[in-house]
Amino acid sequence: MTTREHCLALDAQDSLAHLRADFALPEGVIYLDGNSLGARPAAAQERARQVLAEEWGDGLVRSWNTAGWRALPERLGNKLAQLIGAAEDEVVVTDTTSINLFKVLVAALRVQANRDPSRKVIVSEASNFPTDLYMAEGLADMLQQGYSLRLVQSPEELPAAIGADTAVVMITHVNYKTGYLHDMAALTALAHECGALAIWDLAHSAGAVPVDLKGANADYAIGCTYKYLNGGPGSPAFVWVAPHLRDLVWQPLTGWWGHARQFGMETSYEPAPGIGRYLCGTQPITSLALVECGLDVFAKTDMQALRCKSLALTDLFINLVQQRCAKHPLTLVTPLEHAHRGSHVSFEHPEGYALIQALIERGVIGDYREPRIMRFGFTPLYTSFADVWDAAEILGEILDSGIWQQERFRVRHKVT
Ligand SMILES: *Cc1c(COP(=O)(O)O)cnc(C)c1O
Repeated sequence: MTTREHCLALDAQDSLAHLRADFALPEGVIYLDGNSLGARPAAAQERARQVLAEEWGDGLVRSWNTAGWRALPERLGNKLAQLIGAAEDEVVVTDTTSINLFKVLVAALRVQANRDPSRKVIVSEASNFPTDLYMAEGLADMLQQGYSLRLVQSPEELPAAIGADTAVVMITHVNYKTGYLHDMAALTALAHECGALAIWDLAHSAGAVPVDLKGANADYAIGCTYKYLNGGPGSPAFVWVAPHLRDLVWQPLTGWWGHARQFGMETSYEPAPGIGRYLCGTQPITSLALVECGLDVFAKTDMQALRCKSLALTDLFINLVQQRCAKHPLTLVTPLEHAHRGSHVSFEHPEGYALIQALIERGVIGDYREPRIMRFGFTPLYTSFADVWDAAEILGEILDSGIWQQERFRVRHKVT
């Protein structure tokens, strides 16, 4: 049985432990929800002050040029590109993941319509994040051209679901519920063999697991910056398009920021060459600027080191919970196999919601996803091995005592 002393020894040897000081985490909290909202980088407070007081307050409209506001989507995109296996000038940070998904879905369908208009199926997983499915459903409804979604129930069903009728395979690299990590290179190759294009949602992979978009030969990718990238609540998302596909078609949200000559003030649209055409309109600069503070922490390490610690943390949590809570009805839904595990661990429990509320009261912050899923995110930048031990111990205490059965833990909040 692993002891707390052993975990403290692991922390003492951890070459990433010093990075915790780059985050402003409250005392007495074990934060296991960086997969939903990353912790605040310590540098973000001073950066926010600078943006508000100096850039907005003193610089006023001049700051679009003097503070580099207009160039932020591209500049941040270049920093982010290194974490996802993309190159310079291939990524922009902009809009939301839902909106960027809409852009790349339409673009992919347009590319396919030019090649083989008989392809009308978008393949995805039934357990994909709802907004991804809703955006695809809404798009099919909007186009009224016979597009439909084909949803598989498990990753194993994907190969049989992709075929000659498939236009696009739209998969979230790490499943938000189960934490299942797909083999991006293998699935992309399969899509291509069938003549389909592959869209990857990196919401739970960017900053969480090594991603190699170019190595995997991916076609399109989108993702969030407010999860593992620690960009701040609702911070803008990102979009990447393989260079050979980028300039073939227009993305559908043809706003002035994506124009070839934004301040030419022309009456008709001409898309910018390159990833700049995936911009639409004016960006929330105060939020966008803070994304950089999160990205700058990643520059102090690399994704291989983070992956190594992430797997050690999730292995430890799984083992401790399985030992400490063996007599309780907890079911692990996250794969044990490293090759298929992201950076969060999910357990099913019939009363998962109440359990998570009881954990939060004890300072262990995870979250809950319907149905029955308790999610625990492990962020190697700021989670320690002792945190993992304490979280498993507190979960055990809550289950043993039955305190979670108190009525107050059943009150449903708007955000779970
Ligand atoms: C978190 C998440 C989103 C969120 O989309 P928003 O537009 O930022 O609300 C989308 N897709 C996946 C897979 C996610 O995990």
